[in-house]
Amino acid sequence: MEDCIFCKIVKGEIPSFKVYENDSVLAFEDINPISKGHTLIIPKKHANSLWEISEEDLTEVHLASKKVIQAIKDALNPIGVACLQLNGRGANQIVMHYHLHLIPRTNEEPELPVSSWEIKEGDMKIIKETADRISGAIK
Ligand code: AMP
Ligand code: ZN
Repeated sequence: MEDCIFCKIVKGEIPSFKVYENDSVLAFEDINPISKGHTLIIPKKHANSLWEISEEDLTEVHLASKKVIQAIKDALNPIGVACLQLNGRGANQIVMHYHLHLIPRTNEEPELPVSSWEIKEGDMKIIKETADRISGAIK
């Protein structure tokens, strides 16, 4: 896609710190890292979000995530890695080209903001109604 920054990275029109690629996917370092080793994995073919990505490309991204998370473990020895993927402006997706974040946390780093929300017990009636609505919409 013409104006997409990640498509430009795929085409080599803007630089990136590449860590892995194959025919379908590219993994590179986030230039505004939450932590050391914050890596993005994208399909080379443009898709905005999880709603649009093909099953084949989704599979490729997630297979690559297994390879990259192993390399992160071997290279950086993190105590954990958060996998994060945002869809839509309302979820704070900024770049509208599907990407999976791998966000490691090493011993020296503070708790990750993306994995430290407050646990509050939900209303079981509402949870059940919502589950019924979603399950009823599964195609
Ligand atoms: P989001 O769409 O909110 O899931 O996040 C988009 C991510 O892309 C942010 O973490 C940005 O720091 C990152 N980002 C934006 N432009 C670039 C770029 N040129 N190279 C690497 N990462 C980028
Ligand atoms: Zn794109």
